[in-house]
Parts: sequence; C-alpha cells; structure tokens
Amino acid sequence: MLQIRNAADILKGGGLVAFPTETVYGLGADALRPEAAKKIYAAKGRPSDNPLIIHIAEFEALFRIVKEIPPQARLLADAFWPGPLTMIFQKSEIVPYETTGGLDTVAVRMPDHPAALALIRESGGYIAAPSANTSGRPSPTLAEHVAEDLDGRIPLILDGGAVGIGIESTIIDLSCMSKTADGEWIADEIPLVLRPGYITREMLAEVIGTVGDDPGLADENAHPKAPGMKYRHYAPKAEMIIVSGEREDVIRRINELAEENCQRGEKTGVICTEETKEQYRADFIRSTGSRSDEGSIARHLYAVLREMDTLGADRIYSENFSALRIGNAVMNRLLKAAGHHVVEV
Ligand code: AMP
Ligand code: MG
Repeated sequence: MLQIRNAADILKGGGLVAFPTETVYGLGADALRPEAAKKIYAAKGRPSDNPLIIHIAEFEALFRIVKEIPPQARLLADAFWPGPLTMIFQKSEIVPYETTGGLDTVAVRMPDHPAALALIRESGGYIAAPSANTSGRPSPTLAEHVAEDLDGRIPLILDGGAVGIGIESTIIDLSCMSKTADGEWIADEIPLVLRPGYITREMLAEVIGTVGDDPGLADENAHPKAPGMKYRHYAPKAEMIIVSGEREDVIRRINELAEENCQRGEKTGVICTEETKEQYRADFIRSTGSRSDEGSIARHLYAVLREMDTLGADRIYSENFSALRIGNAVMNRLLKAAGHHVVEV
C-alpha cells in the first residue's frame, strides 16, 4: 500500500510510474495533464501521433472525459469491465491532445488488477498508459521486462509479478455512434474491432449485436484505424518467419530450414508449443505453452520473443497459432513481429 501511495504521489506530481495490469505492464502518467502525458512519449521513444489509453477505476469516471456515452458502452462495461477491453469514444474538452495523439477521440479501459485500480483511485482517477516497453520492443509481461527497457528513465516500477493475460487489450471503436438533436443514437457504421485481444469479436457481438473488424487489420498495406497498429511493433532483432500448414509438415520444414542455417553458420530459434517442442532440432527451442491451455500461449508469447533477442538467433521460425480461440490476437502480434513473413508448407 505504501508503494501505491508513493506511486500515486509521483503521478500527482506529473511524473511517470510503470504498473502491472492484467494484460501487460503499463507506463502511466496523469492523463489530464499535457506535460505529464508528453513524458510517456519521451521515455518510450513513442511517435507522438500514437495515442494513449486512459485507465479508469469506475464507470462513472467516463462522464468527465467522454463527450457522450453511447448505450453500447454500458452494455460492454457490464459484460467486460474491469477487463481487457478498450473502448474508443468522442473525447470531452478536458482531455488534452497530448493524451490522444492529436485525435478528437479517446481510448478508455478499466483494468482488472487490484494494484492498477488502487493506483488509479489514489492518483485522481485518470491514468494515461501505453505498454511500458521501449517503442518497437515486445510489451512487458514482467517487471523485469520494464526494467530492461526503461531503467533509469522512470522513477518507479511497481512489481506485481507475472501478468495474467499477456497480450494487450481488445480495442473496439464506438466513436461511430452519435446522438441526434432529438437525443436518438445513430451509428455512422458498425462498431469495429481495431485491435484483436483476449475478448474476441464474437464475444462483443453477443452483447451489442454486429461488430466488424477494421479492414486495416487483415491488409498490411491498408491504413489501420488505431494509429499504433501501423507501426512494426513487437519486432525481435532477428529475421522472423511464421511457418504455416499441417503440424507434421511444419515441423519437418522448420527442421530443414534450421539445418540449412546451421550449414551457413547461422543460429536458429524456434517458437513452438509443449506438444511439439521435443521434435525440433535447432539452436534455441522455446515453447510458448500448451495448445490445450490457450491462455498460456498468449501469456508467454512476449517473454519468448524477448528471450530470442537475448539468445542471439539469426533467424526465428514460429508455428502458426490461428486455430486457437485467442489465435486471432496471437497471430496479429506474431504477424507484426514477422513483418507479415509467412511460409506455407
Ligand atoms: P498500447 O497501450 O501501447 O497498446 O497502445 C495503445 C493503443 O491504443 C495503440 O495501438 C493506439 O493506436 C490505440 N489507441 C489509443 N487511442 C486511440 C484512439 N483515440 N483511436 C484509435 N486508437 C487508439
Ligand atoms: Mg504498446
């Protein structure tokens, strides 16, 4: 509790604090102070057009930062808050453009983590926070990852141990909803998922009806609606390739490629699962988890990507995870890490 109070004091003084959430570690600042939000961009080396998510601890906190709250927001909050869902709204006047990357919309989430909720309440109710990594590195899922990237650049890292989910929140855009003069809500288009996550499009659709996917997600050349999705995030230093196909074919092909690399004097890393890890022959073989426990795959993905960097692999091959329920979210991150380099076998 003392730690939380220290952290809250730093935030209230306009400083930065890294803190755990259930998705990944966040790098927080007072969301309503432009100069505080600006420090986040400097510490991360984050492009200034990449907006931050405001973290709140009560649904009612929305009223101050959102122009008007569409009915879907209440339904989705009842179903998924606190939890790994971020909603985009038209912003109110008090939200500075430094927090929204210059946009008139604002992203808001209520994290499902006791330390995060206590910190938000203790520090005034509104913490702007992106993931607490250096821009372009995998998001941190342990306090040690935050320290690797940001030690010496921020005054405090709250250590909450390993996060529960391991990939960033699902983002749904509700800014397409507007209110007419007679108080009726109309939709300019259907709400879109801007970033896939643990909460799937199907789960959202069960609560609010039709939900689409931002076309920018599937097409690497299209312009994604979440500014952050256009950057080549989560990129390991080595060249990374996803090998897709039947399990036996994937294993055979990766082993062949590893053998070729070895003959050239190059080191190979393999990202696989508990079910297959014994069948590879390569320099570095890392399992992200078991296909029978999908959560474990998301939870360990970023730590494995970070480890591959430190091991010094020249090439990394990953199995394909699209068959999983959270496969859409995992594949979205892996495809970015691999610069969309996929080999079909
Ligand atoms: P991070 O918290 O590091 O995962 O980054 C926040 C993500 O939310 C980035 O991909 C941003 O582009 C996205 N985001 C934040 N605010 C908005 C907004 N107003 N409209 C669309 N995307 C947003
Ligand atoms: Mg991030």
